[in-house]
Amino acid sequence: MIVQKFGGTSVGDVDRIKAVADHVARTVRTGNQVVVVVSAMGKTTDDLIRLSKEVSETRPGRELDMLLTSGERISMALLCMALADLGVSALSFTGSQAGIITDTDHTKAKIVEMRPNRLLETLAEGKVPVVAGFQGVSLEKDVTTLGRGGSDTTAVALASALGADYCEIYTDVSGVFTADPRVVPNAHKILKISFEEMLELAASGGRVLALRSVEFARNFHVPVHVRSSFTWEPGTWVQEEDETMEQAVVSAISHDTGEVKVTITGVPDRPGVAARVFREVANRGINVDMIVQNTSTDGLTDISFTVPNYEMKVALEVMQSVAPEVGARDSYADSGIGRVSLIGAGMKSHPGVTATMFETLAKEGINIEMISTSAIRISCVVRQEDVEKAVKALHEAFEL
Ligand code: ADP
Ligand code: ASP
Ligand code: MG
Repeated sequence: MIVQKFGGTSVGDVDRIKAVADHVARTVRTGNQVVVVVSAMGKTTDDLIRLSKEVSETRPGRELDMLLTSGERISMALLCMALADLGVSALSFTGSQAGIITDTDHTKAKIVEMRPNRLLETLAEGKVPVVAGFQGVSLEKDVTTLGRGGSDTTAVALASALGADYCEIYTDVSGVFTADPRVVPNAHKILKISFEEMLELAASGGRVLALRSVEFARNFHVPVHVRSSFTWEPGTWVQEEDETMEQAVVSAISHDTGEVKVTITGVPDRPGVAARVFREVANRGINVDMIVQNTSTDGLTDISFTVPNYEMKVALEVMQSVAPEVGARDSYADSGIGRVSLIGAGMKSHPGVTATMFETLAKEGINIEMISTSAIRISCVVRQEDVEKAVKALHEAFEL
């Protein structure tokens, strides 16, 4: 059993939908059970978001989710029709019908349970279930979405719940590359990558797979094959680390321009202040990424942290309410930042990677504003306009 997920560009127009139907039909005819997950056609989700901004400042999450989930309904129904023409019986299912149960956190809901009974019945009847990606139904019976790029998560969660052999993610590039091929045209395809490295890559901006989908794949041991729906050639296997994977010191460079830096200034340097600030941020459901606190002068310090740019408004609201309470001077957000990261399972046993990274950025005249590291990743925040230059220079310096 294979779960095949097709991203927005892969079902971007009528010809693409027919090509996808043809591929699904072939996979079925070679004796496989297939479950399909589709994204909305092309830029549909972006267009719907734009529409919502034109009519409303408030945009309640429940209504935004109702709107956005309509995109995937279009592609799933059209794909089933195209499959019917090829003699393949297929049935489309919304996230709710497919039994994808989520929490109530609209626009970024988390899956809490999978009840794929209807999909199993459909498979047992020899039909192909086609599931709308990126959506579910909440414990309060409202339609929810799983966050941008969430169709990947739908696909991997279904592969896990149905016990599929693997999950294929079809997209507009032929696999996971050593850097975003749109930024570094001579980046090369990685044939196999471990869940751990892919997790760091996804978390630091390599949007080829949504972060939650990689967490699912790792936690439930689902092998994922990322490949092209344009060339259909074999792509990248994301899987458990094994001895055939060389532990490269640096495997990939990623970048992210979707974050903002929030700073709270003149904070009294005493126990409990940071705890208070970040508890408030967490209570609003905001994921904080990098944090730096300066050394204090006269008992006062500045704290900066990064959050996704769509959380900027709420993060600033939170800062404005806690600032007076903790005795801070001011708070502001800077949306002109970007982040570049090096990922490599081998770096933990190789000293000097950080130094080379900093030297490379220095040679390009790029100033580093924040730094964070994990065992297998180093990230630097720089000016947004320097991001592409940084990625190219690092790709070259580490000979990827
Ligand atoms: P889909 O609509 O199929 O889900 P996405 O746009 O979400 O596609 O993801 C595919 C894109 O991810 C590619 O077009 C590429 O620009 C980008 N990308 C970023 N980093 C990488 C990487 N390391 N390897 C491959 N693609 C990457
Ligand atoms: N259509 C949704 C988005 O654009 C989900 C996805 O494509 O994975 O984010
Ligand atoms: Mg995607």
